[in-house]
Amino acid sequence: MDKKIRVRFAPSPTGYLHVGGARSALFNYLFSRHHNGTFILRIEDTDRSRFVENAMKEIFESMKWLGLNWDEGPEVNGDYGPYEQSKRLDLYKKYAEKLLESGNAYRCFCSPQRLAELRTEQEKNKQNIGYDRHCLTLSEDQVAEKLKKGDPHVIRFKIPHGRIVSFEDSIRGRIEYKSEVLDDLVLLKADGFPTYHMANVIDDHLMEISHVLRGDEWIASTPRHILIYEAFGWEPPEFAHLPVILAPDGKKLSKRKGAASVMDYKQNGFLPEALFNYLALLGWSPGDDREKMSLEEMVKSFSLKQVSAKASVFDEKKLEWMNGLYMAERSALSLADIVVPEWKKKQWINSERSTHDQYLLDVIELMKVRSKRTTDLVENSVYFFKDPQTYEEKAARKYFKDNAAELLKEIYTELEQLQVFDKDHLEKLYHDFAQKSEISFGKIIHPARLAVSGVSFGPGLFELLSILGKEVVLRRIKTTVSFIERNRT
Ligand code: GLU
Repeated sequence: MDKKIRVRFAPSPTGYLHVGGARSALFNYLFSRHHNGTFILRIEDTDRSRFVENAMKEIFESMKWLGLNWDEGPEVNGDYGPYEQSKRLDLYKKYAEKLLESGNAYRCFCSPQRLAELRTEQEKNKQNIGYDRHCLTLSEDQVAEKLKKGDPHVIRFKIPHGRIVSFEDSIRGRIEYKSEVLDDLVLLKADGFPTYHMANVIDDHLMEISHVLRGDEWIASTPRHILIYEAFGWEPPEFAHLPVILAPDGKKLSKRKGAASVMDYKQNGFLPEALFNYLALLGWSPGDDREKMSLEEMVKSFSLKQVSAKASVFDEKKLEWMNGLYMAERSALSLADIVVPEWKKKQWINSERSTHDQYLLDVIELMKVRSKRTTDLVENSVYFFKDPQTYEEKAARKYFKDNAAELLKEIYTELEQLQVFDKDHLEKLYHDFAQKSEISFGKIIHPARLAVSGVSFGPGLFELLSILGKEVVLRRIKTTVSFIERNRT
């Protein structure tokens, strides 16, 4: 490609950034990085009725968390700003007037009430819904008079009839629409704000956007946009409409099924690099069977040619699996920043405790490979901070029977004498004990784990014991022995 590559993500601040929006942003990002282009963030905030306070802040925060850093846009600025459409109102007005002058647009004074009645009528008669060009026939004098009176009005685009509007979608191929099916859309509203269509086209042109990569719910808007470009005499950008994302049951994503906000995923224990990697695979594949990929690999391999037009399925189980891989790869220190504050919130550790504390780092190192989410790591580590209050019932029935208490007592004595309380010495101690007592290893391993952790699963026993330390291990075994003795029938 010899053209300068400039792409944009253009969210409307009408709510949080959900996975669909994030995936669009991410494809734009990968595309720009692959071509050494520019990634722009533009805020499309001209629909004041749908404006949500703080949405913009959350969008910024979500994008930064995912690593989708923009080269131009709010906060960082750039040569094509401002990047918030509400700050560009004069521009839209000026361009709408140009279209009036060239006869591609006209003023429409129809009241909302007339439009509503028109719609009802069309619905009743099973006609196409759309504006009936009532005001197109107004004479210049009539328009001048209404303007003088200050009658509220909008500016509408005059769709040329009898045309086939077509464009080449980089993912779907050629797409054609008959212009008759498009009605005379509003460009500028009565309050002076532009509609999405108007502002979107003008900004994509003025910001020199080379490629528009957006969700496929915008396909039907594209022929309208093409006609607006044409009316201005501008060359449209290339278009690529990204496949829809569905829930595993084939239905639309809902908040319960995947459509949660990016920040919810953060909250629920996912790592940004895992979500990034997973979202990249929603509709795109590198053309081979690679799934876990570094950012560099994704940037290097990304191509619209490998984006499928077929709907992609958001599978949270797979995301979880991917997250587990990234968890295992993360350093304990970097995970400490996420999990240590959570342990403090739960008051399992003192609020003064440092994230560099060796005990905490040891716990994280041991547990991270066994956790799919950071929230699992937080929860499943409880026994490193608190003595078990209960024992897993089924396991207790199985492992705390027969002579379990006696064996635990004997081991207690041995452990008490152990000088170096580390993994290797503990392992040797247990082996020697099993041999000496002529019992199977399992008979002493499982009760020990249950005694010190309260659960029947977790990391290797000897690592667990060595991290907990002698004092804690002895105390917990003692408690378990009394528990077994108390519960004996
Ligand atoms: N503001 C639109 C949105 O909220 C942008 C669509 C486009 O990328 O053209 O998704």
